[in-house]
Amino acid sequence: MNDETRKIAVVTGASRGIGAAIAERLSGDGFIVAINFAGNLALAQALAQKIGKAGGIAFPIQADVSDPVAVHDMFDTVEARFGGIDVLVNNAGIQNLAPLAEMTDAAFDSMIAINLKGVFNTLREAARRIRPGGRIINLSSGTTATLSPSYGPYAATKAAVEAMTAVLAKEMRGRAITVNGIAPGPTATDLYLKDKSPEMLAQAARRSPLERLGQPADIAGAVSFLAGPDGEWVNGQTIRVNGGFS
Ligand code: NDP
Repeated sequence: MNDETRKIAVVTGASRGIGAAIAERLSGDGFIVAINFAGNLALAQALAQKIGKAGGIAFPIQADVSDPVAVHDMFDTVEARFGGIDVLVNNAGIQNLAPLAEMTDAAFDSMIAINLKGVFNTLREAARRIRPGGRIINLSSGTTATLSPSYGPYAATKAAVEAMTAVLAKEMRGRAITVNGIAPGPTATDLYLKDKSPEMLAQAARRSPLERLGQPADIAGAVSFLAGPDGEWVNGQTIRVNGGFS
């Protein structure tokens, strides 16, 4: 593909996990990919190199999504380098679990800062800058439906993301830009695997009719669909991508 005709995608939290799989998949689809990360420069660089070796174009870009100035600068940098932005995938997120009675202020505040304010920060820049025909895809979570104990504040941040997804889709009227969410079920990444015993993981896998955990590539496939031409008629939705987990 000619470099000048490639579209530009920004994927937040793409140094590892689901975001890294999304970055690889979108590169395979022909996008130039900005691999946003918070602290893991080495992982982001390694992914950019892997994509480069496979014939793609990707580059790491550090920005804490909870910082509006850093997010603004990241959009400036990508626009200055490539002339515009066509796709934003809001993937960066953290998860702190505890019953409400035991959750600390710090655990609560960090999820609000990254999962909610972080998504607001990038959505605001995207709403101002994404080119006509563009796509915005936000990572929610199946926990907005399962509502299990200990997931209260985390699920609340993701429910807020789903609300902003539906509202922004309407606000993009007339610009041929779609805004959608993807709500994965349990997916084998650092975020999900940490602090879980093999028994807990096996139990979670059994809850899916497909009898396995999701893999990052399962989620990346759905993002690819929404970001590509066949996804155009899906707008303002949050799609549950979870193998039937409930
Ligand atoms: P991981 O913990 O594996 O990866 C998180 C990514 O987010 C990393 O790239 C990390 O960067 C980045 N990140 C964290 N904080 C910030 C920040 N402040 N600014 C920029 N980047 C940041 O998570 P997953 O891949 O599992 O999750 C990805 C998304 O999917 C999240 O929004 C999560 O809530 C959602 N999700 C995940 C599910 C799962 O089961 N895994 C299920 C449902 C939803 P760095 O490496 O630099 O720290």
